[in-house]
Amino acid sequence: MVHNFNAGPSILPKEVFEQASKAILDFNNTGLSILEIGHRTPLFQPVMDEARALVKELMQLDADHEVLFLHGGASTQFMQIPMNLLNENDIASYTETGTWANKAIREAKLFGHVEIAGSSKDSDYTSIPYNLTVPPTAAYLHITTNETIAGTQWHTIPYDCGVPLVADMSSDILSRQLEFNKFDLIYAGAQKNMGAAGVNLVVVNKNILGKVNRTIPTILDYRNHIAEGSMLNTPPVFAVYVAMLTLQWLKEQGGVTAIEKKNNEKATLFYNTLDALPVFKGPVAKEDRSKMNAVFIMDNPGLEKEFQEICKKEGMVGIKGHRSVGGFRISMYNALTIDSVKALTDLMKEFATKKG
Ligand SMILES: *Cc1c(COP(=O)(O)O)cnc(C)c1O
Repeated sequence: MVHNFNAGPSILPKEVFEQASKAILDFNNTGLSILEIGHRTPLFQPVMDEARALVKELMQLDADHEVLFLHGGASTQFMQIPMNLLNENDIASYTETGTWANKAIREAKLFGHVEIAGSSKDSDYTSIPYNLTVPPTAAYLHITTNETIAGTQWHTIPYDCGVPLVADMSSDILSRQLEFNKFDLIYAGAQKNMGAAGVNLVVVNKNILGKVNRTIPTILDYRNHIAEGSMLNTPPVFAVYVAMLTLQWLKEQGGVTAIEKKNNEKATLFYNTLDALPVFKGPVAKEDRSKMNAVFIMDNPGLEKEFQEICKKEGMVGIKGHRSVGGFRISMYNALTIDSVKALTDLMKEFATKKG
């Protein structure tokens, strides 16, 4: 039995793997693989259409919000967003919450001025900075709703920041109910919570586009992708297909509200266990803990290796902390069952008893 706590690419529902593998050999009884059909054929077009429609439905998006599946991962959005939204002499407001926010900030600086609305750098990114200073003239405010490496998450979204709101939701996309229409741009690499690597979800309020005066290369201009129905060029067909299957699965689970309930149960079980065992410590401020990526360390770092070995023997995969943080990190994405969390917390309790 394997318990997959990988941070990304990460666990997906078994049903998705089964359907995806069938489609490689014979897509919808056509005798053709999904990998050898034209993207503009009546075979693939419904896949793209359904994937986009499912996002609209699951996030209850209004008519102004367009859904795109683009290449390049979330990291491409770090530059594509300021290229489309930020004039050279204007300000973009960014929150500085960890590794991913900082990567977004670095790219934005290539296109205009960046002002930091709030930072948790002083706490080593173990908290969320809720006291924000957002210039009213800013082109937008950028937040990273879930910092995958630091293990923090915005539990209150600054919807009323007074400027367009842009969010990197790569590691908590579709894991909880939010007021999605209040965001002007949402982006997420698919490989954490909604599919295979190679495709990037972008939800954009079309009213914020067309306001920069630079010339945007064709392939990087959101408006072109919207006009072409997210088929400006060959989309990553297989990754879009896997995303569609994952979205179908999510809908069958009861949608975002239902999965949020499950995610809350998993996070509660994990953090309650963590807080009850003095052998382990959680460095993140309790109220800012991520329900997707939980970071923890040992009171005595000398015991980390031993615990790691035990976990490995019991089939726990991907629990090692990010190389920049150390300790442990477990990711509890949508597809992870509470049984896997229980298996891990049982090991933690056993270990604590032995060492206590
Ligand atoms: C993984 C991750 C990224 C980077 O995604 P790529 O698809 O690898 O570019 C960006 N932001 C967050 C929050 C992430 O977790």
